[in-house]
Amino acid sequence: MNKLFLLISINLISLSLYAQYVEINLVNCKINDSEQKKIEKLIAYERMFCNEIFETSNNITVPVKINLYGKYKDYKIEKTKYNAPSQTGFYIPTINEAFIMKGGDFIPVALHEASHSIFQFNYQKAPKWLNEGLAEFFETLDFDSEGNLYSYPQSNRIKSIKAGLAFKDTDRLKNFFKIYDGAFYGHGVDDNYNTAYSMIYYFVKNKSTRALKNIIKLTAKGYDTEKAIELTYGSFNAFEASYKQFYSLHP
Ligand SMILES: [Zn+2]
Repeated sequence: MNKLFLLISINLISLSLYAQYVEINLVNCKINDSEQKKIEKLIAYERMFCNEIFETSNNITVPVKINLYGKYKDYKIEKTKYNAPSQTGFYIPTINEAFIMKGGDFIPVALHEASHSIFQFNYQKAPKWLNEGLAEFFETLDFDSEGNLYSYPQSNRIKSIKAGLAFKDTDRLKNFFKIYDGAFYGHGVDDNYNTAYSMIYYFVKNKSTRALKNIIKLTAKGYDTEKAIELTYGSFNAFEASYKQFYSLHP
């Protein structure tokens, strides 16, 4: 069981210091103390992760506001107001607030949307793959029964990536990075999330956060992702070969 987990070493004592910058507005619902603490701690981890990849310490105090709804009718009012498609949660950058329907699995959704809040503070016009890929990765954070932080793999997304490789979907990555940012949420949106997640999962699990940092820096300077990868790995093909090998060996 344990080997499925992606272990991340972290100082949990310092995590609790960051709790005060998370506001959870409960609308017709309750959460228990352990849910509240878990959300705060995992968001604190998101802050630390973003501090690391953006080489800053500013993320500690980024305000995160989550509106949590117990009744769908209340959630639907906001969903309609902001024209948001999701039945489970969404984030509105202009007001820096997340809106979450409190379903059975609301914590991963809260972690996803909260990360957009933190991320936008670091990098407003980030490529969608980076923003959504990180958000998908953060969804998978949890604590095991001994209180250790881990990240479980999103098996369906990984399965889809592996299937693509098996079908010799050779230009998957190149095609993916050529899509316009606006089209990320259009045609093939689920597959776009698969690929975005697979990038972040690869960087983290392959211990290549230094490469990820460099790619982020280069895209922030205006390079497109393909070029940023090429400059980081020597060639796009070198990166692609490593990515494919990683997924072909992944259980
Ligand atoms: Zn998202």
